[in-house]
Amino acid sequence: MAERTVQVEIKRQAAPDKPAVWEKYELAWRPGLNITSVLMDIAMNPVTKDGKSTTAVAYDSNCLEEVCGSCSMVINGKARMACSALVDKLEQPIKIQPLTKFPIVRDLQVDRSVLFENLKAVQAWVPLDGTYDLGAGPRQLPQLQEERYPLSRCISCCICMEVCPQFNDETGFVGAATIAQAKLFNEDPLGKVLKEERLRALAGDGGVQECGFAQNCVQACPKQLPLTEAISDMERDVMVQQLKDFFTN
Ligand code: SF4
Repeated sequence: MAERTVQVEIKRQAAPDKPAVWEKYELAWRPGLNITSVLMDIAMNPVTKDGKSTTAVAYDSNCLEEVCGSCSMVINGKARMACSALVDKLEQPIKIQPLTKFPIVRDLQVDRSVLFENLKAVQAWVPLDGTYDLGAGPRQLPQLQEERYPLSRCISCCICMEVCPQFNDETGFVGAATIAQAKLFNEDPLGKVLKEERLRALAGDGGVQECGFAQNCVQACPKQLPLTEAISDMERDVMVQQLKDFFTN
């Protein structure tokens, strides 16, 4: 074993109905190691610290540069992206486990489809049918672009949902990311055609009113989205929509 090593403990689970076990590893250190590299090193030589042969750890990853949002996991108790978690900045043994609020698939892989279902529920897109050329879209004022851009940086990592005390089965809260994306598309010159439908979707069960303003989301978001501001704005817009609906229906 190399002179300098990295001590890692990983919570493993072969399948949703199998028991979880912690496995310990000791790996050779090298400069610039991140958690994704650690998982790749284990895959190349799947042997535990006590010399037992094991399997490669299952985890999701894609871009390796904090853009795809797929490698979110809990590292030393904190929900974060594996690709941007540098070994030298972490206390050892480094404890790695899957996100806790999403159904487990295997090892560090979880099923994050709830976020994508929530985004579908609020129609977080610009409605274009793509069957004919619409020409250039409407122009956007630079101020509006600046306001919308930070919201467009969401990478669907689900970390804001993992850290939110309100994101649970009891409340059915959609979570900060969905609300922020509804705001992003409500402010789009083309996307706002669905604004009322989005606001009505967020007025129902699990909508904006479930937010308890713990503000964990805004602190944990790796892309620094202005989540609490987005939630406040959407709460106001949802309320205005509810008043409009009350007096017009
Ligand atoms: Fe991740 Fe932030 Fe998007 Fe939540 S809002 S999914 S924490 S990037």
